[in-house]
Amino acid sequence: MSTGRCREPFRVPTMFVELAVALAARVANAGSVALAVQCERGPHDGGEHAVHVLYVDDESGRAAWVFWDAEEVRVQLKDPCPEVNAASDVCLLFAEHSGGHLWPGGPMPEPYSDGRAGRQDAGTGPAGEAR
Ligand SMILES: [Zn+2]
Ligand SMILES: [Zn+2]
Repeated sequence: MSTGRCREPFRVPTMFVELAVALAARVANAGSVALAVQCERGPHDGGEHAVHVLYVDDESGRAAWVFWDAEEVRVQLKDPCPEVNAASDVCLLFAEHSGGHLWPGGPMPEPYSDGRAGRQDAGTGPAGEAR
């Protein structure tokens, strides 16, 4: 069972980002969508590369996916793949994709930092003793 991914890099043309925003009916602007992406499919011979760029803002789990190959780019709303693995992870790809499923479990992105260097507990001493 391979966990490899295609990872073909791609820079989504702006017009397709705008199309994805429109399809997902999100109150979002193109600036909130990643332009530099990597194919999320498992290794594949031929066929289109695929990456999701924006989830639809409802509970359907649908997302706007960008598909591309050497000749063509297109954007399409896709239902989520319904497959679940033994660890109860849901496949991250779209419904009826070909090739292997994509399970979460890679390194998670770092949560954003709000810039605070550390936690300061109140009430542990007189004011002014923070250091
Ligand atoms: Zn690919
Ligand atoms: Zn799948």
